[in-house]
Amino acid sequence: MTQNVSEKDPQSCKIFIVDDDEQQANLMRAMAETVQLKTHLFTNSIDFLNTTINANDTVVLDLQMPDKDGIEIMRELAAQNINPNFILVSGFDERVLHSAKQLAESKNLNVVSTLSKPIKAKEFIALLSNTYEKCLDNHNQELISGLSANNTEQITIEELKLAIRKHQFIIHLQPLVSLNNKEIQSAEILLRWQHPTIGLVLPDQFIPLAEDHKLMNLLTEEILRLAINEYHNLTTSGINIKISINLSAQNITDLSMPEKLEALIKNNQIEPDSIVLEVTESALMNETSESLDILNRLRMKGFSLSIDDFGTGYSSLVKLYQAPFSELKIDQHFIIHMAADPDAAAVVRICILLARELKMHTVAEGVETEEIWNQLKELGCDIAQGSFITNPMTTEDFIPWVKNWKMEHTDNA
Ligand code: C2E
Ligand code: CA
Ligand code: CA
Repeated sequence: MTQNVSEKDPQSCKIFIVDDDEQQANLMRAMAETVQLKTHLFTNSIDFLNTTINANDTVVLDLQMPDKDGIEIMRELAAQNINPNFILVSGFDERVLHSAKQLAESKNLNVVSTLSKPIKAKEFIALLSNTYEKCLDNHNQELISGLSANNTEQITIEELKLAIRKHQFIIHLQPLVSLNNKEIQSAEILLRWQHPTIGLVLPDQFIPLAEDHKLMNLLTEEILRLAINEYHNLTTSGINIKISINLSAQNITDLSMPEKLEALIKNNQIEPDSIVLEVTESALMNETSESLDILNRLRMKGFSLSIDDFGTGYSSLVKLYQAPFSELKIDQHFIIHMAADPDAAAVVRICILLARELKMHTVAEGVETEEIWNQLKELGCDIAQGSFITNPMTTEDFIPWVKNWKMEHTDNA
């Protein structure tokens, strides 16, 4: 049986409750109503899948249902590229909820939280209100920036080529800070596209397109130009830190790349040991002997090599064993969840131990809270990066930020 709310709906940020147990569904609705949140109830998953669901909607989803279970529902929505916020509910133990969440996230679905039945009213209400507010914020942000999914979907390869020619790219910087003494070790170079009509476009929206069309080598030339320029600005201001540059899969297929890079930085009076090259595990996935050849020669030339997003790629340990990485960057997914999820914390702990054995230092990215900072420090992680320290910022903001940080945190500033 399906009950739909007849009142006038807001166009977005709807809350759906999908549970075949009518009594349970009504109970959740009653809890939501205590904080004036309107819900749409579905006791039949097929009916639910026939409704229109948007990215800023919230779906409270029971995992066990007779016609189609929660996992099947998530799979079907993922296949249609529909990505609302899920709150997963189950009568099974925590482990089932946990792996359902992992499964969802592997399909890029957004699981806000998981709840075991019987549901605790206070916890449910707090979670739902919180999620709803975030959805509203998101929705408003999208309206303001005009950067809705529809807009970015319209980016074409021709536009991207033109943008490279017209130098429409800029870089933002995010510091990497020692957990031990709070000294700034490096700045990660993060690419942004200053699009003439859409505004600032984040890399996830255009790098895959550039990769698909073999444009990454051209784009990387642009990134290196911007990075070298910024490195000089920093040293001129008395800031002597490394810069971390992301390489994409395509960058490590050209056998002459190490020599080209070495020549480029030497011509610009920069030493290779000031540069950290970050390579994601997924970039090494279709690894050939070429990529190992390239990485070995980069290392021999004095560049530092960092294995990025460690723990998410494919056969991570083999990559770690074969290539001469000097730094292990634990994927932010594990860091963000480590305070609340003991399994994520276990992965972080093992990564730190592994890096220590292999004489590499560890970087944790996605450090969002003081609690996580402290936990990482306790575990012996070396370097932190994340919004707890600061979000990425423009090159203009970076130098004053560094000066201020040094004043506040370094003894001999
Ligand atoms: P990445 O290399 O893993 O970069 C870290 C991403 O995490 C950045 O997103 C950064 O803004 C974000 N981040 C930093 N701290 C936090 C935090 O505390 N919480 C959360 N939730 N996120 C945080 P961004 O700048 O959007 O970059 C996304 C990805 O795009 C990068 O992931 C990298 O793979 C790629 N990318 C960025 N710039 C370049 C580039 O110049 N070249 C290449 N090849 N790839 C790039
Ligand atoms: Ca990176
Ligand atoms: Ca990363």
